[in-house]
Amino acid sequence: MDERVEAKAPSNFLERIIEDDLAAGRVPNNTIVTRFPPEPNGYLHIGHIKSIALNFGLAEKYGGRCHLRYDDTNPEKEELEYIESIKRDIHWLGFDWGEHEYYASDYYGQLHQIAVRLIKEGLAFVDELSAEELKESRGTLTEAGTNSPYRDRPIEENLALFEEMRQGKHPEGSMILRAKIDMASPNMNLRDPTLYRIKFAHHVRTGDTWCIYPMYDFTHPISDAIEDITHSICTLEFEDHRPAYDWATEIDGIDHAPRQYEFARLNINYMVMSKRRLLNLVRLGIVDGWDDPRMPTISGIRRRGYSPESMLDFVARIGVAKSESVVDFSLLEFCVREDLNKRAKRLMVVLDPIKLIIDNYPEGQVEYFEAVDNPEDPDSPTHQIAFTRELYIEAEDFSEHPPKGYHRLYIGNEVRLKYAYYVTPTSVEKDGEGNIVAIHCSYDPESRGGTTADERRVRGTSHWVSASEGVDIEVHLYDKLFSSEYPGEATGDYLDDLNPDSLVIIPNAKAEAEIKNTAVGDYLQFIRNGYFCLDSKYAAEGKQVYNRTVTLRDSWARMKQKMGI
Ligand code: ATP
Ligand code: MG
Repeated sequence: MDERVEAKAPSNFLERIIEDDLAAGRVPNNTIVTRFPPEPNGYLHIGHIKSIALNFGLAEKYGGRCHLRYDDTNPEKEELEYIESIKRDIHWLGFDWGEHEYYASDYYGQLHQIAVRLIKEGLAFVDELSAEELKESRGTLTEAGTNSPYRDRPIEENLALFEEMRQGKHPEGSMILRAKIDMASPNMNLRDPTLYRIKFAHHVRTGDTWCIYPMYDFTHPISDAIEDITHSICTLEFEDHRPAYDWATEIDGIDHAPRQYEFARLNINYMVMSKRRLLNLVRLGIVDGWDDPRMPTISGIRRRGYSPESMLDFVARIGVAKSESVVDFSLLEFCVREDLNKRAKRLMVVLDPIKLIIDNYPEGQVEYFEAVDNPEDPDSPTHQIAFTRELYIEAEDFSEHPPKGYHRLYIGNEVRLKYAYYVTPTSVEKDGEGNIVAIHCSYDPESRGGTTADERRVRGTSHWVSASEGVDIEVHLYDKLFSSEYPGEATGDYLDDLNPDSLVIIPNAKAEAEIKNTAVGDYLQFIRNGYFCLDSKYAAEGKQVYNRTVTLRDSWARMKQKMGI
């Protein structure tokens, strides 16, 4: 172990295990080898970030390596689109597997040879029980299973049948290859587990070469062994599979024995994170694809404007443990805000515009104010903002009948227009139905830049956009996709808890012209309105749409506090 590693105390139980293994000389070549093993049957989600950060992070910390291995043993569900999206997402997080890109399907030949060897050694047999009979014979958690009547068929017969299975001579479901372990084992996964099943399915990588496919519990440990994985880290639901994992890595002729360790998967309230459910949302057209900004997928949060740094910060804060828990959605958003506050470029955008006319400002005059892009950054560049006689402000920044404590614009109340001047509303213009269509005001030319010679103080500051120099933009306000903390908890169907207001479209917000200089990938703050970004999907179609990444403050947490829940 190098000094760099020793200097940093282990921060979770896996690091402790690894450091003990290294210290005791139990790691071949002293090289830690981990792997991230996605099944390419969907897009990666926030839960996967925890696993990616853990596996790549451990390899990085201990100077080892992390493989990207696709667990592609379910040909019907797996697609090239998913394989590619997974790479894109891992790179976005800042990790790289180098030359170590592998596929379980790379090992189909070896796995088949191992299966044949097991048959020859009397350790595997071809079973012809029906699915029903199989289930029946497995027993229960409290009752032993019973041996299949096919369990003792002669080795030669097993070999011949397995070969016929491979050649496609038997229909799907008619027979399987099973390991001979122990039908009375207290661990169900050791009751003669299935090693191979027949599937006449086209595989995205091996095409039609195979019509028998190895099972996960057989494939995964052997793939780990072939790749010299030292620490095979998975989520808790595989704890029960560990004896099967150990059985497979102890098969004669497999000379490397990786160990499996389990940690608690990441769950977040108000979210669903199983790929099956996410696929369903896509298929039903409830969302705009896997990368809809409301999806918890990595491609969704990227499009939403979350930064990779904030996501790594998030999973680091949660830590790695062995007990299941549900993380509060507000922690995720907190991490996003923390990061964006440091890096977002500030712009003035009015989401709900109402006209403000400065009667004593010269008509046709345009003057410019300088604004710092990001006040959190001492080296921040600046940009110019055009100011004119007619502006837009937020409708909620003016009140005809101001409630007590209202410090924004109302008739007679002087406020500051950010960066610019003090103004005092004088009258309102209404349409035939009594709606305010414009507010008239006067300005104090002496207050240029937001201060006056007499150091007169005002309590409110409003953001604004020049009516003639600003631009119209479309804004998408995103909120949680589900409105209940545990979607589906009440009715059993998570679709019952969809939040009908998870997307609000504002077709004509007003933005300062500087917004034309922003690009996909820029992190923006619309002053007082939240963090935003240019939508990548619409931008590719030549349309400018801005997504709200997250609000400025956690109005949700505050509301919960207020309501005492
Ligand atoms: P899902 O249940 O969401 O469909 P999965 O576990 O089937 O996910 P895989 O592609 O098999 O998805 O996962 C790849 C790796 O990511 C596995 O090691 C898995 O344990 C891990 N992983 C998946 N979901 C989470 C999660 N919510 N938190 C942490 N790790 C996860
Ligand atoms: Mg899986």
